[in-house]
Amino acid sequence: MGEFELIRQIFMPLAGQSGSAALLLGPGDDCAIQRLAPGRELVFSIDTLVEGVHFPKNYDAEKLGWRSLAVAVSDLAAMGADPECFTLALTLPEARREWLEAFAKGLGAAAKSFGIALAGGDTTRGPLTLSIQVHGSVPAGQALLRSGAQPGDLVCVSGSVGDAGAALKFLDHPDPSPDVAVLLNRYHFPSPRLELGKALRGLASAVIDVSDGLLADLGHILDASGVGAQLDADLIPMSESLCRMMGRGGLRAAVVAGDDYELCVTMPPQSWRSLAETVKCQLTVIGTVVVGHGVRMDHGEDLNGTGGYDHFGEVQ
Ligand SMILES: [Mg+2]
Repeated sequence: MGEFELIRQIFMPLAGQSGSAALLLGPGDDCAIQRLAPGRELVFSIDTLVEGVHFPKNYDAEKLGWRSLAVAVSDLAAMGADPECFTLALTLPEARREWLEAFAKGLGAAAKSFGIALAGGDTTRGPLTLSIQVHGSVPAGQALLRSGAQPGDLVCVSGSVGDAGAALKFLDHPDPSPDVAVLLNRYHFPSPRLELGKALRGLASAVIDVSDGLLADLGHILDASGVGAQLDADLIPMSESLCRMMGRGGLRAAVVAGDDYELCVTMPPQSWRSLAETVKCQLTVIGTVVVGHGVRMDHGEDLNGTGGYDHFGEVQ
């Protein structure tokens, strides 16, 4: 069997498994065809992951499959979109059945979990690189942008932040403790906040997913909206595992490290009250949007040893 037939055989089952009604024609023709329901808009984005840059060399293939799709779908969550279908461009040094099957297993599990169907793809030979283009849809005019934050809005973050960044130094740990295992799980298996993103339609003024770090990503909202933010470091949600492993040192991972794929959200206080019944448990208020630019953080002494912390985009 040729390598292209091998790849076709391994990936084809992923095309139909999500049950997405939007995918009219999957892999096998010159193009795929996606149905766009009346009154909805297409939301799409592409992510490229390079071995040794965006994931470690010799990273586990099954984990890579999950993680690469999760990272791409997280951008749909940040727009408040329903996932529909995706394409995959895979550059491989060699087509090894064992690696391909493990990668497809992780990718397929993620696709099923997020309700997104493989629509097609391309394979070439070269250094291990993945590009995934995700397609989603939103009711017309309801996509969540970065540019709508207003002074007086609350700044919120979902779940907890810092676990994935703190996990980086434990990636090769042969026998992780239960707390380290929790951190590693956050890095290996990010879970895009799709339900929260949809619940935020019509309520949030701006949304972004936390891929580069809370301060950096909030900074993108503030730049796009022409405003600043006042945060309280004591309010930043951190997991018990992160606190036990790193104490107050976990704060740096929580605000500077990336890879958590939580949502950072701004919204007027009345939106917060509307959401309280449904998603309050997932969202923590960490500050407010103010006139100005950049981030001022109270109780951020652990970050730089002074009385506060100012961030104007220079941290990374
Ligand atoms: Mg993003």
